[in-house]
Amino acid sequence: MGLTSCEGCQFAIMDLGNRFLELFKDIEIVQFRLMEEEVFVTPKMDICFVEGSVVTKENQKIIKEIRKQSDILVALGNCASMGGIHQIKNYHQPQKMIQEVYFHSNKIDNPEILDLEKIVKVDYTIPGCPINNLEFLKLVYSLLQSIDFKISPRPVCEECQLRGYDCVLMPDPKTGKKGQMCFGPIIQGGCEAVCLKSNMPCQGCRGLYKGAQVNNHLKHLEEIGYSRQEINHQLEIYGLRNDVEEFINSK
Ligand code: SF4
Ligand code: SF4
Ligand code: SF4
Repeated sequence: MGLTSCEGCQFAIMDLGNRFLELFKDIEIVQFRLMEEEVFVTPKMDICFVEGSVVTKENQKIIKEIRKQSDILVALGNCASMGGIHQIKNYHQPQKMIQEVYFHSNKIDNPEILDLEKIVKVDYTIPGCPINNLEFLKLVYSLLQSIDFKISPRPVCEECQLRGYDCVLMPDPKTGKKGQMCFGPIIQGGCEAVCLKSNMPCQGCRGLYKGAQVNNHLKHLEEIGYSRQEINHQLEIYGLRNDVEEFINSK
């Protein structure tokens, strides 16, 4: 089921190709938005994968209906699990922002964007923007065999260094330019450090990993020259800011 999203996580599932088709031997797909006309009837489901954020009143209605109709509900991807890019609005005067975009905004829903688990009970999460489709497969087969599904807690740094990528957090040895703002040390691995492969810093789309030293990492970023405002702006890109703030407040 897709709420408000770019549908990239649904595409990631279809990108499985034959491995996606193989699933039809074991499961019946009763609804898949990308493969059919949008249907507003929510069928009874053993497992429902929900992509996207709750942005409109329609989304709010649908997610409650989905929860009632599904034995197991899985938050699929960053938009569903962490509020995604939509959550940026929460920090920047939402009313003003909507007026700037739409001008006449009276009839446009403008709720605070919440992580899905703050709206309904979520049984499992597949993180990432987009998801790692192999994690999706692993979850499906685990559920079919009644095996508990877990993503092993390890930071993106581990996968980055195992692959021998240059650490972009370190100052450039040639120019002495300060390191980039990489969140790899505190973010859940499983994406094979794909951004670092292209020398892009990790912006945290998979969320905090269990055991992350959040305070230490934020302090380090400040020490190498980033202001708190700059750090917050980066944390907002993938809906990470509220999770970091909740983590700090819980200590
Ligand atoms: S998590 Fe990323 S890829 Fe998936 S629906 Fe949201 S924006 Fe698209
Ligand atoms: S993930 Fe970022 S901080 Fe970690 S080793 Fe790679 S570049 Fe350095
Ligand atoms: S490196 Fe970071 S931002 Fe890039 S896919 Fe992995 S978790 Fe997401």
